[in-house]
Amino acid sequence: MVPARLRRLYPARKVFLGLSVQVCCMPREAKARFVLLYGSQKGQAQSIAEGVAEEAEERGLVADLCCLDQSEKYNLETERAPVVFVVSTTGDGEPPDNTLRFVKSIKERTLSPDHYKHLLYALLALGDTNYANFCNCGKTIERRLQQLGAKQFYPTGYADDGVGLELVIDPWLEGLWNAIKDALSKMASDGNRDDAAREIPDPSLPDVQLNLLSIGDKQNREPDSEYAPPSVVSDARPASSAVSAGLTSRPTSAVSTSTPKTQTRGEGAAHVSLAASLRSSLPPLSESSLNVPALPPPYLDVTFQETDAVEQAFEPSSKETLYQVPISKAVQLSKGDSVKTALLLELDISGCPSLTYQPGDAFDVFCPNRAEEVDQLLHRLGLQDQRNHRVQITLREDTKKKGAQVPPHIPQNVPLLFLLTWCLEIRSVPKKAFLRALVEHTSDSGQRRRLQELCSKQGASDYSLYVREPSLSVSELLAAFPSCSPPLSLLIELLPKLQPRPYSAASSRLRHPEKLRFVFSVVDFPACSGRPAGRRGLCTGWLCDLVNPGLALPVKAESPGSPAPPKIHVSLRPNCSFRLPPDPSVPFIMIGPGTGVAPFIGFLQQREEERTEKPEAEFGETWLFFGCRYRDRDYLFREELEHFVSSGTLNHLKVCFSREDRKDEQEPPSAAQPRYVQHNLLLCRQQVSDILLRQNGYIYVCGDAKNMAKEVNETLVEMIKTELQVDQLEAMKTLAGLRDEKRYLQDIWA
Ligand code: FAD
Repeated sequence: MVPARLRRLYPARKVFLGLSVQVCCMPREAKARFVLLYGSQKGQAQSIAEGVAEEAEERGLVADLCCLDQSEKYNLETERAPVVFVVSTTGDGEPPDNTLRFVKSIKERTLSPDHYKHLLYALLALGDTNYANFCNCGKTIERRLQQLGAKQFYPTGYADDGVGLELVIDPWLEGLWNAIKDALSKMASDGNRDDAAREIPDPSLPDVQLNLLSIGDKQNREPDSEYAPPSVVSDARPASSAVSAGLTSRPTSAVSTSTPKTQTRGEGAAHVSLAASLRSSLPPLSESSLNVPALPPPYLDVTFQETDAVEQAFEPSSKETLYQVPISKAVQLSKGDSVKTALLLELDISGCPSLTYQPGDAFDVFCPNRAEEVDQLLHRLGLQDQRNHRVQITLREDTKKKGAQVPPHIPQNVPLLFLLTWCLEIRSVPKKAFLRALVEHTSDSGQRRRLQELCSKQGASDYSLYVREPSLSVSELLAAFPSCSPPLSLLIELLPKLQPRPYSAASSRLRHPEKLRFVFSVVDFPACSGRPAGRRGLCTGWLCDLVNPGLALPVKAESPGSPAPPKIHVSLRPNCSFRLPPDPSVPFIMIGPGTGVAPFIGFLQQREEERTEKPEAEFGETWLFFGCRYRDRDYLFREELEHFVSSGTLNHLKVCFSREDRKDEQEPPSAAQPRYVQHNLLLCRQQVSDILLRQNGYIYVCGDAKNMAKEVNETLVEMIKTELQVDQLEAMKTLAGLRDEKRYLQDIWA
């Protein structure tokens, strides 16, 4: 009998490398069913739900898969089968667009407390702890289901994109199948058998198919694989386990660039110096049996049509909302090379009268993938000669994928070059399903094994370390696995849409009627295992290159002989709550270190114009907490901020410098020695509390979601505790109240 912990289930027809251990399904006349509902903003929850549906089939179950807004396809009022929800959360804790109606419907006050008493449900909530209201949509649905009498048949999973969704999703999925089976049995014994399932599998018989990979299976191995796990012993003799797997040892230095670690393997084993990397693993992983995810079923066919057409220009899908605008000015705000490069760009929107923004709004910048990366990819796919051919995509007739459809972000009949340049996020971090799919297209057995490890349950920490944490891109991954040649269809099936990047407006139209400014730092990805040279962020690197020749100068207006200013595509992304207080007489506090100051420049320009227009009006006090590393290198907008202070538009400017010389570097940062914005905030505890708790004031936070926004939040809780003499819970409730009243507003990004 195979131990339960190894019983990750894989389909019989997918015999990996000819070494599967299989316990076949009992024949079934019909399959037990459950309902699988997803709510998804960017497709993550949808693809997880689709994966569940596919795996269900392999486990002899039928999943009725629907999006939550397809209410005509399911009916929870009468449903007698278990229901599984997979829902994400978006924005500031909002449901995805396709879940809004469902959430509204279950919040209906007229529903009785036993409305869903017949319902058995399980829920997987996706969220990101970097943002407020973690998994709020999942929690809301769960709370309401319970209030309406539904019973949970399996504990809810709360997956955190901030640390890696898979940490929760993998074990949650693993336990789901037994839970569904138990729920079906329970429903059957409760007399619901006919409704819930046309046939319940006999639990005494194995209803699973096992496909365990083991390096003990010799057929799996090609002895001279370059990618054989580096089972290196100090005297260069092969490790015993490697011998049993038919592997040869190879020097550590030949396979890794990372710091060697020392490991002892068992009693009597030699001390060995081993180094793991993206391309190679260490024992025990290199010697383990692996539980790998199910293979995503291929579902697209791609054909090429030869044309004479050359490169296709970027064609917006919705011309009403997308604008092509020239860059009229580019200024480097940071100085010196010890800080991130911060740039201000100004767009000339005089040709777009309908592009009307408010301070607090953001807008999306549409950027292409880098030409050299697209070229490399074409080369890897063996499609250089087809770069200008038009791509036709159809659904495979024999696909096993449920609800298969051509991804909506993939246009038909566009040149291949256009598709790879504008439609697919080729920089996206490869998901485990993608790694799993690549295995099938990798000829070198050592490379196959490593890809299997990286997507396996046992290789979860290697996946985090070598793929997720360094944000490895698909192109970088392919470069590290040269024998892997995936078909184009696989990339179209599994890569996400190339997303535009949002930037906060750093100007006010009252001050600059025909301009839209924004500021950004150029993102740097350092070299790592799998990335021999560092690289820059996609959009920030592209923008930087676009303006580089004219940097710090106004980009010259078109005149005969001079090059036209570069143009970019943007669309507005309104943020209806991140606005100046509707009543100008109430005070407000802005917290925006680094480029987080952007929207506040817009706020202050707006406020200054309003003060000039209505000198008699009453305006509330304004506070800005800004922070950067060095006073003389990255104090962004210094002159403009000092001007706001001297004009009386900004009443309190509190700035701190995190890397300036300190009296005692060993001392932890404290309120007395402000290093970060939250330390300055604490120094002004009384005034800040007064504004928020007694004067109906507002507080705005913008910038880094990972550290700053969390720290500020914790500081505010501490302040409220002290100020109101209440405990932690009460202080958190007070802060949540401010958030509900939309007086505590965040515009933060990871
Ligand atoms: P990408 O190629 O997309 O890479 C960035 C991603 O890589 C991020 O997920 C990040 O977590 C990760 N990453 C970054 N550095 C590393 C590293 N060293 N190693 C590993 N991973 C890393 N940005 C601004 O600068 N100014 C703004 O005003 C602004 N406003 C925004 C407003 C909103 C509403 C949102 C959602 C975001 C905003 N951003 C802003 C962020 C901006 O949209 C982009 O995400 C950012 O500029 C990076 O884009 P990129 O394409 O250059 O980087």
